[in-house]
Amino acid sequence: MKGILVIIDGMADLPNKLLKDKTPLEAAHTPNMDFFATRGEMGYMDPVKPGFIPESDEAIVSIFGNDLSSSSRGWLEAKGTNIKLTRGDLAFRVNFGTTNSKGEVIDRRAGRTLTTGEAHELARAITNRVKMPFKFTFISTVQHRAALVFHGGFSENITGNDSTYIMGKPKKNGICKPLDESENTQYTANIVNEFLAKAHEILIKHPVNKKRKERGLLPANYLLIRGAGIEPPKLKQYKKWISPSYMPLEIGFSKVSGMKVTTFDYPKLKKLDAYENLWDGLKKACKFNIKSIKKFKKSFDYAYVHIKETDLPGHDNKPIEKKEMIEYIDKTFIKFLRKIAPPNKIKIVITADHSTPCKLKAHSADPVPVLFYNNSAILKEKKFSEKEARKGTLRRIKGKELLKKVGFVK
Ligand code: ZN
Ligand code: ZN
Repeated sequence: MKGILVIIDGMADLPNKLLKDKTPLEAAHTPNMDFFATRGEMGYMDPVKPGFIPESDEAIVSIFGNDLSSSSRGWLEAKGTNIKLTRGDLAFRVNFGTTNSKGEVIDRRAGRTLTTGEAHELARAITNRVKMPFKFTFISTVQHRAALVFHGGFSENITGNDSTYIMGKPKKNGICKPLDESENTQYTANIVNEFLAKAHEILIKHPVNKKRKERGLLPANYLLIRGAGIEPPKLKQYKKWISPSYMPLEIGFSKVSGMKVTTFDYPKLKKLDAYENLWDGLKKACKFNIKSIKKFKKSFDYAYVHIKETDLPGHDNKPIEKKEMIEYIDKTFIKFLRKIAPPNKIKIVITADHSTPCKLKAHSADPVPVLFYNNSAILKEKKFSEKEARKGTLRRIKGKELLKKVGFVK
């Protein structure tokens, strides 16, 4: 193996009062990342372009050298969920969310307490009881996430109904709007809204949600959809890469990019504590990444490792939890890399797909720190952090330039 790209989702942050005005990465004890930083270079990156606030899929598509217009999140999620797709099928990423009686979205993830079993049951009810004049596939994936595909010849030129992602601010639950005048686009927007209304009717009355309300939990009574796409993404191919991945988006992206995907089943959310589930997932992911790299380090040149869990404490404003996750990754997976990289001359890149500052509880346009270990001479001890990265010799780069800059692609 020649190189490993590690993306720690939403790791980048801003100084936080709870951490004595340090960022979670800066406050974290990360001897193994610092080992690499000391023997390498640092810089900072605008994952898409300066001022742009990326979603994970946009950042990844861009870091792997593609234009945003050549991909849709819907198709990547559906591919990662193993849904069979043909051109013209309309695919979306879906969240189970919660609306109040006024029809306002009060939680985009149903309180993050939806168990895997409940989500499956709700998805089954929608599949069996929503009647549409065409075939559709609706599959719940991890926690509040799901993938939706309308089979047939639709238009993708419509907005989602997830207003958070359209306007940057949550507001009254939206409807999907056509973005052009064509008949098919108008028809598609109408039929998607009809589907959402029918699904809503079923979800409100579903026993799973009645029980959730009795227990004081937010009902998963509304579907939020985004990332409409009707075409296979045209992505650059990475045949010599492996991708140990476990979230539908990363699985789908890696498959469509021609990588060898290894995967494991994400722990099911059984109890109410979403963070207990996240920690279980993080532990399993770190172990699985190590296993996959050990197994394939002779047969593949590069690995793309994406660790998802760190994004969540950013959205929930939990800086201490985020710092602890970074420390855990450092003392398990990164420690393993420290063992194998120097003797095998493997280059390591560690970065984030975007900033998710705890105090904003959302992604931001702040550039992310980049660490590039190439076993260069030690000039002085360095700590991997947003602040130090800004002084680094790699300087400021765009996501699209990263893999070239570090020599992972020609
Ligand atoms: Zn992300
Ligand atoms: Zn996020």
